[in-house]
Amino acid sequence: MSNQDSDNTRTDQLTFQNPVTRYPSISPPKQDQPEPGLDRELEPATDRGQYSYRGTGRLEGRKALITGADSGIGAAVAIGFAREGADVALNYLPDEQADAEEICRIIEECGRKAVPIPGDLTDVGFCSELVGAAAEGLGGLDILVNNAGRQIAVESLQDLTEEQWTRTYETNIRAIFLITKAALEHLPPGSAIINTTSIQAYSPSPTLIDYASTKAAINNFTKGMAVQLAPKGIRVNAVAPGPFWTPLQVSDGQPKDKLPEFGKNTPIGRAGQPTELAPAYVFLASPESSYVIGETLNVNGGMPSP
Ligand code: NAD
Ligand code: MG
Repeated sequence: MSNQDSDNTRTDQLTFQNPVTRYPSISPPKQDQPEPGLDRELEPATDRGQYSYRGTGRLEGRKALITGADSGIGAAVAIGFAREGADVALNYLPDEQADAEEICRIIEECGRKAVPIPGDLTDVGFCSELVGAAAEGLGGLDILVNNAGRQIAVESLQDLTEEQWTRTYETNIRAIFLITKAALEHLPPGSAIINTTSIQAYSPSPTLIDYASTKAAINNFTKGMAVQLAPKGIRVNAVAPGPFWTPLQVSDGQPKDKLPEFGKNTPIGRAGQPTELAPAYVFLASPESSYVIGETLNVNGGMPSP
């Protein structure tokens, strides 16, 4: 049985409320899913905004490609974008088809177009094919969200294989380079590129040496590309999430014994729900952030960050 979020009693993100109690502090039971995990099997279920994100027309008529859009943060961004009036192309791995279909259905319920494009971002040729297929399916492209990522916790450097190191780098940073390069053929002035980095870019966990270093690279790539593309009217920014409850965490992203405590060490005292990130991506995609360039927006429950 699917555990898809069915709570339609939630308040929306624009209602005045206490952020500490907006969501309960969860204590996820120990659980394991093969990589990549599925949202539909996550306990407890997440809020990706299906019942809580209220759009106000901030991305009317926009055309967005989002990687890793089937689940977690990418799914929440896809729902937020669609509610704000954008059509969305979604990339994800073929094994994630069930999660992706759910998000496509929600996008279409908003009266927006959903273009599903499954494929593996470690495949160099696929990265540029993906961009072409998104531009064709949407009739153009003016938002790119590089959000896909892989995170596998390993206790010591001795146990970190070269294979894992390479795969993490191929997924998390080489794909961003390849997709961004391919997207430049399509993005008109006014477009926005948003990369998903992490608090790990500044505060690396000792179990995430490969992953955390890709996130530092993403921050640096974001700033360099922001300077390069600013004169062309294309803004590049990043979002750095803290601990968010997503399938990444149960498909070996965290040591299993740490799951019940996940996110409790933040000043706000709880893990974030994916939809709490959507407004950050909407802001950076929308023309209202016209003078925000090369910024990393930290959304992490209050953990001090540079
Ligand atoms: P998630 O598992 O829901 O999303 C990650 C997605 O990456 C997967 O759904 C999958 O579609 C995609 N992906 C992985 N390998 C791929 C490949 N080879 N080809 C194509 N797609 C691939 O988890 P999430 O937490 O929503 O992660 C989204 C992003 O947020 C990642 O970049 C992650 O590093 C980042 N992040 C997450 C957290 C957190 O606490 N959850 C914190 C900081 C940053
Ligand atoms: Mg997924």
